[in-house]
Amino acid sequence: MTNQDRDAKEIELFRIEPHPPERSTDHTEKAYSSLVTLFRMLQRENKYLKKKTTCCRCEGKEASHMLLPCGHYGVCGSCVERIIQCPVCRRDVTEGLRVQLSL
Ligand SMILES: [Zn+2]
Ligand SMILES: [Zn+2]
Repeated sequence: MTNQDRDAKEIELFRIEPHPPERSTDHTEKAYSSLVTLFRMLQRENKYLKKKTTCCRCEGKEASHMLLPCGHYGVCGSCVERIIQCPVCRRDVTEGLRVQLSL
């Protein structure tokens, strides 16, 4: 499975919405509402993590570099070549360091 396949699968997964129970009782209503709450939490978490690991400049590729000397992480390999100022703190960038995430 390629990375792209996995991403597509993941997106698909988060497009699924929980269905309300067909026969509604107090118990199923409660279970459904906890499921919706959990689902929303996961969606938020997923969005947050996606944002954290996506290049903040082109917003397309995966972030892979840390900027020096400020230490901000969050640009991809192509953007780091062209960056002269950190998009977060505006400090001048002298170097981009490739970061390897251990996951
Ligand atoms: Zn980029
Ligand atoms: Zn910075």
